[in-house]
Amino acid sequence: MTVSRRGLLSALLGTPLAASACKKTHRAFAGEVRGAAHDVGHRLREAWYERASGKPERVGVAIVGAGPAGLSAGWRLARSSFRDYRIFDLEPLAGGTSAYGTDGSVPYPWGAHYVPVPLAENRALRILLDEMGVLAPEPGAPSARERFRIREPEERLFIDGSWQAGLFPAAGASDADWAELRRFEARMDEWASLRDGDGRRGFALPLRHSSEDARFVELDRLSAAAWFEREGFRSQRLRWYLELACRDDYGLTLEHTSAWALLFYFCARRAKAGSASQPFVSWPEGNGRLVQHLERHSRGRVETGRLVTDVVPAGDHVKLAVFAADTHELRAVIAEHVILAVPQFVAARVLRPWRDQKPAHLAAFSYGPWLVANLHLSRAPKNLGAPLAWDNVLYDSPSLGYVSARHQALRDVGPDVWTYYLPLTDADPRRDRERLLANDHATWADAVVGDLGQAHPDLAEHLARVDLYKWGHAMVRPTPGFLQGPERKAAERAHLDRVHFGHSDLSGIALFEEAQDRGILAAERVLARLGREVEPLAAG
Ligand SMILES: Cc1cc2nc3c(=O)[nH]c(=O)nc-3n(C[C@H](O)[C@H](O)[C@H](O)COP(=O)(O)OP(=O)(O)OC[C@H]3O[C@@H](n4cnc5c(N)ncnc54)[C@H](O)[C@@H]3O)c2cc1C
Repeated sequence: MTVSRRGLLSALLGTPLAASACKKTHRAFAGEVRGAAHDVGHRLREAWYERASGKPERVGVAIVGAGPAGLSAGWRLARSSFRDYRIFDLEPLAGGTSAYGTDGSVPYPWGAHYVPVPLAENRALRILLDEMGVLAPEPGAPSARERFRIREPEERLFIDGSWQAGLFPAAGASDADWAELRRFEARMDEWASLRDGDGRRGFALPLRHSSEDARFVELDRLSAAAWFEREGFRSQRLRWYLELACRDDYGLTLEHTSAWALLFYFCARRAKAGSASQPFVSWPEGNGRLVQHLERHSRGRVETGRLVTDVVPAGDHVKLAVFAADTHELRAVIAEHVILAVPQFVAARVLRPWRDQKPAHLAAFSYGPWLVANLHLSRAPKNLGAPLAWDNVLYDSPSLGYVSARHQALRDVGPDVWTYYLPLTDADPRRDRERLLANDHATWADAVVGDLGQAHPDLAEHLARVDLYKWGHAMVRPTPGFLQGPERKAAERAHLDRVHFGHSDLSGIALFEEAQDRGILAAERVLARLGREVEPLAAG
């Protein structure tokens, strides 16, 4: 394996910024850094309700956060013909970590990329995808129409100097490696087919529907790395392959991922033993397509560039202070109910009783940072080996490689946008956040192009720009003990009379299905409190 320029800038700008990026002058790439409205975010600490001006605006339900969870809450309210709600988000566009953009020719994601075709029991996602015309009309188990499935070639791996089809590192794999892969698959089949006494799966999506039997739950106490050892696996290729899954879905190494989460990744998307994982559906802008659809249901009710700074329960109503990023005005809003579709660490800053006394469960929640780069290419660089796929991973890289936006736009020539993903997987996410924020555009862009340059040495010649998104708190981390631990369960149960929580982090795993489930669940609780008859979509 070849990799240097000082250990790929010390595995992408670790070791004191890779000795000042190897003391080398950066190649200059046009582009900019974006990132969770940091300049607006710090106002959280200053703007209390009492300082708001003007007559308070009244609304039935105020939803804080227009990520997939908040938008799903709005979708659920709208489906019950309840329209007296507003969704506030601090960013200029809705979407949260499923945000998207376009350069005029190719739309592309800034975060989440895909969802698997739901199993029959995930009713809410089935309804949503059906509404969008994604599911095939045939009876039986849900399947996606051809044009929304990832078209071939779906994935490839750059290893030993060329691209190979598929993600398991086949080049140089021994018989023992293949035998371990088969044994691993057989183990996943066994786990996927197990049911508890109530007929529940060990690992279900949404995660809330998973069995609580000890034989499943106890896996959470182990790390995925310890489980790998316990099962007697030795293959470094298999280990790399499983770690890729953890870095991809959780932004974590095997050591820091719960073994329960590893098995969830491989089992929750299998209908039954012997069946493959459900295929993915995706769009050029990734899950941005889901966001756009959800937003249409709340047309005229989503207010972006609006930072909620204070949430104050007050008997039969809740008071909110909302800061407008454009006018710098602090508005007062009075709602009958509030849904906090924001991560727990944000809830702890805006919700007054939690600001006054932090709930004990909060300390168990941690969030990993990610860098996402969108590389705008005028045309494709040279290619060695298997042809460009949707997902393109590099074996010798801490990144996850890139996804081509053009692939799902069903175009093979012309400009493209490659979305490059780098989870920062240090044991301490605070150190990683510092690293993410400390490096400027020039340093990161140069590192990203250097990383992909392993596979595409002429990449720089074809780049029009490199834009970056620094996600400081990208994903909640399912570290050992967290998913089945008392703190996450306490957060799941928490509510303050008229304040309801509905963000994906309550599941402990950052997935669209979890965001949708949490948003819908919160909306259904509110509907019930408002005396509406609700047929629970979130019940599964
Ligand atoms: C790089 C990356 C890749 C991913 N890839 C996938 C994928 O392929 N598939 C998948 O299923 N999932 C993926 N995910 C997980 C993704 O987090 C979830 O799919 C989903 O977007 C989570 O939605 P959410 O609404 O729970 O949270 P968020 O997306 O975090 O939304 C929270 C919203 O609250 C807003 N907000 C925060 N504070 C305030 C405030 N004080 N006032 C107003 N608004 C506020 C934020 O601006 C944000 O819009 C990925 C995540 C990242 C970061």
